[in-house]
Amino acid sequence: MTNSDLAAAFDQLAKLMELHQENPFKIRSYKNVAGLLSKLGTPISEMSSDERRALKGVGEAIADKIVQLESEGKMKTLERYREMTPQGIQQLLQIKGIGPSKVRAIWKELGIESAVELRYACIENRLVDLKGFGSKTQQDVLKKLDFHFAHQNEMLYRRASTLAKTIEEQLSELASVSRIERTGDLRRQMPVVRSLEFIVIADVPLLLGELEQLDAFVDATLVSKSISIRHVLGQQINIYPTTAPEFGREWLRTTGPDRFVAQFGTNAYSSEAALFEEYNKVVVPPHVRDLAVPDLDVTQLVRQDQIQGVLHVHSAYSDGVNSIEELAVHAHQAGYAYLGITDHSQIAVYANGLNEKRLLEQWAEIEELNEQGPCRILKGIECDILNDGDLDYEDELRSKFEFVIASIHTNIKMDEQKATQRLVRAIEHPHTNIVGHPTGRLLLGRSGYPIDMAMILDACAANGVALELNCSPSRMDIDWRWIAPAIERGVKIALNPDAPSREAIDTIGYGVAMAQKGLLTAEHCLNCLSAADFLDFCRK
Ligand SMILES: [Zn+2]
Repeated sequence: MTNSDLAAAFDQLAKLMELHQENPFKIRSYKNVAGLLSKLGTPISEMSSDERRALKGVGEAIADKIVQLESEGKMKTLERYREMTPQGIQQLLQIKGIGPSKVRAIWKELGIESAVELRYACIENRLVDLKGFGSKTQQDVLKKLDFHFAHQNEMLYRRASTLAKTIEEQLSELASVSRIERTGDLRRQMPVVRSLEFIVIADVPLLLGELEQLDAFVDATLVSKSISIRHVLGQQINIYPTTAPEFGREWLRTTGPDRFVAQFGTNAYSSEAALFEEYNKVVVPPHVRDLAVPDLDVTQLVRQDQIQGVLHVHSAYSDGVNSIEELAVHAHQAGYAYLGITDHSQIAVYANGLNEKRLLEQWAEIEELNEQGPCRILKGIECDILNDGDLDYEDELRSKFEFVIASIHTNIKMDEQKATQRLVRAIEHPHTNIVGHPTGRLLLGRSGYPIDMAMILDACAANGVALELNCSPSRMDIDWRWIAPAIERGVKIALNPDAPSREAIDTIGYGVAMAQKGLLTAEHCLNCLSAADFLDFCRK
């Protein structure tokens, strides 16, 4: 069990207990453990029981529950609450933005037991008179449900990639299959994968027979040239069977996108390389094919080894799990020359934001570490953008940071005009250097506030402000499609991990792939600058 599997179990336990109106202190402790586990970089399976108990909030009872999950794959307490709760209600609890107390009211007062029933009730206006609801809440619930139904089968790239590995192992054991490769969204490394797709060289009747024998898959159906099948974990999978002489052309076609594929004829080729050669084209890696133009020079795209610094990292001073020293050691070992510490600003109380006193402590520690360490540590901040577009802290204190990432974390329900104005004002602020997670989206969670992209980019260009491409697999914000218009205006992109732990610094790797998809070059990537040049940029 990975840390995130364990976190999901404690998160579900907390939600179920809240649904059943249990002891709030216990609920809080399970929520905290879920939060801790999801941020913790070190796999808990590699920690001794003493190390585990040294973690904040992990006492005897919780440590015991973790051991149960590891040894039996389930937790007794959680199973008890699951048995008390209809399946459909458990699913409703997983939809982001509809909390347990609302689910309870819907279940107990209206007798609703599934997401489909709840959607009906909203359309029939039945939530309006429910205590604590009203027409605005009903509208909001309907919006959350629609988002849920629209993205039901989708998954984040990182999860899709992990699951794909399991499926590849299972398929590669079949006698009917002689080659298996990823294709479609998965091969193009889309941030959200709509369906898991594989291409195989296989004997089709034999393959169908073998799939039926496997416990890991259900409901195999062959429609024209593709086999649709469901994994027991619930994921829909498409398998394209083909022959060795046709493999290259079929792999190209199923990888997509159509616009890229259209440059090639329909003759059979055994490999993609042969196809590119026949049509006299440079080989374009799959994840770059979405925007690839005929004269694209792929050697110019930004590479991991060109990234010199890490710019958006949270330490234990605010809501991160590691000390500044631990973060610096990891950044150095990963090959970075500088590390920008950007904890939360003081108004972000929920994230343990830093007041002046604690900032001074942090700066003293950074200065001391900089005297010995090989990785230069920069005094940065993730400064909250207030409701009116101003920044947190007084001017004098704020001017002492070496760089400022300005981000929106609160009052995120805004229309396009409000959101754009708020961001433009923050971009025009003399202390802003980078806009953090510019749209606030959480992939598969919420779509983020609507903004006028052209106005934001123009403001960045006019004020020498860079945009973040947040490399967390669940954000990938800004979207890769924004990169080309940013480059056109001379706006730099910062590939930022927004790391809550040292290991999360490595998510920059996902960001590099995403940046390549958007055709980013090193020249336009902010953290490809040396520390001195980066600081020059920040002094504008
Ligand atoms: Zn943030």
